[in-house]
Amino acid sequence: MTTHVTIIGAGLGGLTLARVLHVHGIPATVYEAEASPMARMQGGMLDIHDYNGQLALEEADLLEEFRAIVLPGRQATRVLAPDGTVLLDNPDDGTGRRPEVQRGELRQILLDSLPAGTVRWGHKVTGVRGLGEGRHEVVLADGGTVVTGLLVGADGAWSRVRPLLSDATPEYFGRTFVETYLYDAETRHPAAAKAVGGGSLFVFDKGTSRQWIAAHRESGETLHAYMTLARPLEWFDGIDFTDAAAATARIAAEFEGWAPEITALITDSDTAPVLRPLNSLPIGHRWERLPGVTLVGDAAHLAPPDGEGANLAMQDGAELALAIAAYPDDIERALTAYEEALFPRSATAAAEAVATNEAIGTDPFAFFDQEG
Ligand SMILES: Cc1cc2nc3c(=O)[nH]c(=O)nc-3n(C[C@H](O)[C@H](O)[C@H](O)COP(=O)(O)OP(=O)(O)OC[C@H]3O[C@@H](n4cnc5c(N)ncnc54)[C@H](O)[C@@H]3O)c2cc1C
Repeated sequence: MTTHVTIIGAGLGGLTLARVLHVHGIPATVYEAEASPMARMQGGMLDIHDYNGQLALEEADLLEEFRAIVLPGRQATRVLAPDGTVLLDNPDDGTGRRPEVQRGELRQILLDSLPAGTVRWGHKVTGVRGLGEGRHEVVLADGGTVVTGLLVGADGAWSRVRPLLSDATPEYFGRTFVETYLYDAETRHPAAAKAVGGGSLFVFDKGTSRQWIAAHRESGETLHAYMTLARPLEWFDGIDFTDAAAATARIAAEFEGWAPEITALITDSDTAPVLRPLNSLPIGHRWERLPGVTLVGDAAHLAPPDGEGANLAMQDGAELALAIAAYPDDIERALTAYEEALFPRSATAAAEAVATNEAIGTDPFAFFDQEG
């Protein structure tokens, strides 16, 4: 009989796992490196899909809470050419299957749904080792250890649990986001606010995949933008990101000639530009079954962003919990059932994520055909 599940990482994957386990009466402890839920800005809007993320929330019995945090109107989509010409302008008619929420609010719903003490904040895992017979020892940064009969790595891209199962490590995908925020956009950045519209904006230079821009209207009239640049890491090494003004000017120079209401997303940022290199695991990453341990989310299948990663992490968490609940007396059977579905699902998703990212630039509208 399963007594306790040890989860590393309180991201959306680990928390969905803990919550669905709780719904089925199975206790879990989540060890999280961050000191508190507020330790890091959980920026970003996520569209939660009716074919994966929302199904996970249904299993978590949290659909009502989810609906209460949906940001109305945010499924609107605009596509502009670099000179500001409107190529696509789809309003949010309320019938979309991908409602948008703030990541931090979604995480909070999950946190609020767990028994007090489930998440151990400020517990960074530094290593794990097998003890045999499906048991593992988790080593924490403060020197403490935890011994567990069921260990789940939900600790994201740079998972400390993954090395138990696989030699794979994330590699640079050849593209980097430069992230900016513009606050109180309607009053302080009206031209950029108009360009972004009510939901998401994409600006592509058709025929070149060297750079493009995505921006979202988040809650509180915040514009959140990602400048994507296809450059080697060494190119970014030549920019001093500790000097916000110089880094802004250098990134803006890559978009020279683009309409000012678009480049304002860089030049008028209220925050220093943040560099986010995109990494991915090999497509089809998998491992041989090892008793007592498995992975969910980015730890298992990190892929370039295409709007699926958080949804997949939640789906993994829910499905693993359901498998454990289905075979509470046979953990190996539960983990086998989970991984047999996980591997083909995540291989397909990773291949699609790579294809979508590669299509942008050559045929940006392929992305919207898929997105619907
Ligand atoms: C810029 C960007 C934009 C994105 N936009 C979208 C989007 O719009 N839609 C979408 O679906 N996906 C999006 N994604 C992908 C999505 O963010 C991830 O796929 C998703 O967060 C994965 O969830 P996870 O729970 O597996 O991992 P994570 O969210 O990475 O959570 C892992 C948790 O583990 C903790 N942790 C890490 N190491 C340790 C350790 N050693 N010890 C203890 N705890 C540890 C971390 O602090 C973190 O809380 C985006 C990704 C990026 C980079």
